[in-house]
Amino acid sequence: MDKKWHIESKLAQIGSMEEPVTGAINYPIYQATAFRHPRLGQSTGFDYSRTKSPTRTILEQAAAELESGDAGFACSSGMAALQTVFMMFSQGDHLIVSLDLYGGTYRLLERILAKFGVTASYVDTNELDQLESVRKPNTKAVFIETPTNPLMMVTDIELASNWAKQHGLLTIVDNTLLTPYFQRPLELGADIIVHSATKYLGGHNDVLAGIIVTKGEELSQEMAFLHNSLGAVLSPSDSYQLMRGMKTLALRMERHESNALAIAKYLQTHPQVSEVFYPALPDHPGYEIQNKQSSGNTGIFSFKVADARYVEPVLRHLKLIAFAESLGGVESLMTYPAVQTHADIPVEIREAIGVDDRLLRFSVGIEHVDDLIEDLRQALEAARVEIEG
Ligand SMILES: *Cc1c(COP(=O)(O)O)cnc(C)c1O
Repeated sequence: MDKKWHIESKLAQIGSMEEPVTGAINYPIYQATAFRHPRLGQSTGFDYSRTKSPTRTILEQAAAELESGDAGFACSSGMAALQTVFMMFSQGDHLIVSLDLYGGTYRLLERILAKFGVTASYVDTNELDQLESVRKPNTKAVFIETPTNPLMMVTDIELASNWAKQHGLLTIVDNTLLTPYFQRPLELGADIIVHSATKYLGGHNDVLAGIIVTKGEELSQEMAFLHNSLGAVLSPSDSYQLMRGMKTLALRMERHESNALAIAKYLQTHPQVSEVFYPALPDHPGYEIQNKQSSGNTGIFSFKVADARYVEPVLRHLKLIAFAESLGGVESLMTYPAVQTHADIPVEIREAIGVDDRLLRFSVGIEHVDDLIEDLRQALEAARVEIEG
């Protein structure tokens, strides 16, 4: 992969020049778990597949290149990637974490890492005084999601990572929602990237995977040690499936973004919708930072219906858009965060940040935008008729 290529070319060509024997355009799936040693003290570079496996290696090299990092690590899920990263920390360490956080990450920190004495404080990571107010002598890292899910709060990555550096802290960014096609946090000063590759990178709602990308020799070696020692690695066939999806990432992200923007604008003018949360809209508080640090917008946004009673019939009347968890696939999915993805977050925290019973999250797919708007229009209308008669 030539570093000078545009990201579209790098994506389309993942693995296409790596198989010298046959010239296969798609890198093959090597199922082997064991690799023959030529002689005592020699290795082909592959010994045992938990440590390193050929198909996974092609994916990991591509992930590192795409995120402008030094090393990539493919894991069996996004949560496996997050767990591997958090295992860097030791008993007594403290983390500063984005307030409106993916529910699974919150659960991992509060229900599992807390048992091992790793604690976290949750703040708006875009506010330096909030970061400062929770910093302790044992703070080790800042963990950022931007934009957050579901409320789409934006953090200035450069500002936060500069602050972290001044205090000797690592900056870790969950880049799931924008992908390296739209945002590359390592170029803005972050140290570690985590992805749920189940979402946009895979893109087809058919492979569960996670990615870690590190910058710098020391961090890369430490992560290689953890990845191998913990063993939550991605299988060869899932590695292939993920690369297959990533080849079309650029095209998909462009369509996700344009569809999401058109639909967000439509909902803003709809009388049964009271608020739309999407950083691509100029009235969003994160609009300028988003434009500064990213070349585009994610395909998910959230909105509040004017009356909580609309939620149930809207979800029931949608035809094209599926009522389902997850995001980032070609198919449009609608979620109800308060009872689904964010059910593990205590109700006080959830309501304080605005994840209430009127909030719906929409992962906009790549279908024709007119069909999606028509589906929303008819579902909202059917809900109105049911509630108001
Ligand atoms: C889905 C998701 C995760 C968890 O990833 P899995 O692949 O489901 O394990 C982590 N972070 C974000 C932002 C996500 O959307």
